[in-house]
Amino acid sequence: MTNRNEADWIRFWASPEGIAASGFRSSDGGLAVAVERGVPTVDVVPTDVEVIIIGAGAGGGVMAERLAAAGRNVLVVEWGSWLSFDDLGRNHLVNQRVAFGRHSAGPFEEAPRVVINPDGTAQTVMPWDPRYHANAATIGGGTRVYGGQAWRFNPLDFQMASTYGIPEGSSLADWPISYADLAPHYDRIEHDLGVCGSAVAMTHLPTYQRDYPMPPISPLARTDTLSRAAEGLGWSTLPPPLAINSAPRDSRPACTECAYCVGFACPVDAKNGSHNTFLPRAVASGNANVLSRAMVTKINIVDGKASGITLVRDGHESVIRAATVVCCAGAIETARLLMLSGVDLPMLGRNLQGHVYVAAVGRMTEQVREFAGPGPSIASNQWLHGNDGIIGGGMLLDDFVPLPVAFWQMMDGRPRPTSDDEIVKWMRTYYLHTIDIKGPIQDIPSPESRVTLDPSVTDAFGLPVARLSGATHPESIRSAAFLKDKAVEWLQAAGAVEAWGLAPTKPYLSGGQHQAGTCRMGEDPTTSVVDPAGRIHGLANVLVADTSVHVTNGGVNPFLTAMALADRTATLLARP
Ligand SMILES: Cc1cc2nc3c(=O)[nH]c(=O)nc-3n(C[C@H](O)[C@H](O)[C@H](O)COP(=O)(O)OP(=O)(O)OC[C@H]3O[C@@H](n4cnc5c(N)ncnc54)[C@H](O)[C@@H]3O)c2cc1C
Repeated sequence: MTNRNEADWIRFWASPEGIAASGFRSSDGGLAVAVERGVPTVDVVPTDVEVIIIGAGAGGGVMAERLAAAGRNVLVVEWGSWLSFDDLGRNHLVNQRVAFGRHSAGPFEEAPRVVINPDGTAQTVMPWDPRYHANAATIGGGTRVYGGQAWRFNPLDFQMASTYGIPEGSSLADWPISYADLAPHYDRIEHDLGVCGSAVAMTHLPTYQRDYPMPPISPLARTDTLSRAAEGLGWSTLPPPLAINSAPRDSRPACTECAYCVGFACPVDAKNGSHNTFLPRAVASGNANVLSRAMVTKINIVDGKASGITLVRDGHESVIRAATVVCCAGAIETARLLMLSGVDLPMLGRNLQGHVYVAAVGRMTEQVREFAGPGPSIASNQWLHGNDGIIGGGMLLDDFVPLPVAFWQMMDGRPRPTSDDEIVKWMRTYYLHTIDIKGPIQDIPSPESRVTLDPSVTDAFGLPVARLSGATHPESIRSAAFLKDKAVEWLQAAGAVEAWGLAPTKPYLSGGQHQAGTCRMGEDPTTSVVDPAGRIHGLANVLVADTSVHVTNGGVNPFLTAMALADRTATLLARP
């Protein structure tokens, strides 16, 4: 073996020899049994529809199915295309979690963004740069390749300002709706999407109306170790709710526990997202169509009312008239599109947030890496709220099976040997003998974290790209330090011979795959963008139904809340 530099090692851990040397294997034997049905799309651009939904992701899928079921004539317009299991592939360097030079589920080359670096310089970045804050651009949006952790927010997450006060410089606020308002919608989504879990284990939440439709995914050997450790510490634990079939459901099989989950499509279609639930059902109703590869460039607004949209498809511009337009383009693109359409509200694009993440890695004496997916088997919600001197907190859990290359990157900054033979031995020791705990922190929003239109850089359609600036509030970084120590404590109690934590030490722009907050919901047009029914203030026939409307983003993953809100917004909109 010749001496390799860091980039060579990254390529090595993603190559067949590196994968073999790391011990990584997929418990489905590497079989890619794609049985996907896909989403039927149309090829003709209509001139008139009743409702246009922009974006076929988490919020867009729910809106389409609910409004179609209510008899509305719906067109879903999606920038990306349908990407099959084979299109998305299993490349360790080109997927939606690890991306070198490209990722698998878009956006692709045609849409750069501009980021303002901490030193104030502006830099154009492509979608696979982490500073771009990409989610995914395909039919299904983020849900096509997500991990599917399906958490409800906590009742206190809706009342952050009245619970904790508003720290200096932050835009922390209460939601205009409560957990109780959203609870029936969480319930409907869990059942209609297909979430596995245990309702009685959700002791941090009010009692559920009914149990999840499927039991939790099978525990792993480490689940028991971590459960006993938490019990010794006096912490409560629970199986994480996942949008994954733990039993055959909806004419699709149960999870085969392969090691590829987050960032990839499921080989047996056991992971539930908009692409295999809400969107095909919407189309099957006969009331909805999906138009893919179509970029909405403008919502056409005249005299305080939208008349429809303008889109570009295959280089041709078309105008579609509609009575109602619903933006579900994700928190960054929804804000950008509204700005491109001339919407001018003081809070539009502000409060961009996501989740600051912490991680801890514990080395055990025995091999503990099981390679049985999806990976998250035990969580603790002990630290979501009620932490002395901390605003909010977060959830901790053992994480998705990391790719060898992702583990190698995560260990950057730790002492690692330099000779080739030693590196392979080190990787086999550390990768195979470690348990990872990770967790999202309740982001404390800042009005300065924002999306604006860049004054000089344009995309392939000639439109100003999103310019991202600002940073999360320093309180988020304080919470991260707190939660990181808890993660280390858990691993030490589980018998780790060494354990170390990873958490950011300085504020940075949070957003990424959990991006939210740019069109926050509220009663007052000076402090919010949409009203509690999801309608843009002063523009009653334009609604937002994606993570943009989140006032705060909870201490857990956000997609279930976006779907529950879309369910509520659709219910209110469909009312006669
Ligand atoms: C690898 C990965 C893992 C994740 N894991 C989890 C998890 O375990 N749990 C969790 O809660 N969340 C997870 N997420 C995040 C989750 O997917 C998002 O929170 C969720 O999809 C956001 O939903 P949305 O409706 O706001 O937008 P999206 O799902 O991002 O959908 C927006 C859609 O709009 C389209 N679009 C944008 N602009 C336009 C335009 N102008 N014209 C037409 N179409 C447009 C985009 O192409 C996209 O398809 C993960 C995401 C990724 C990528």
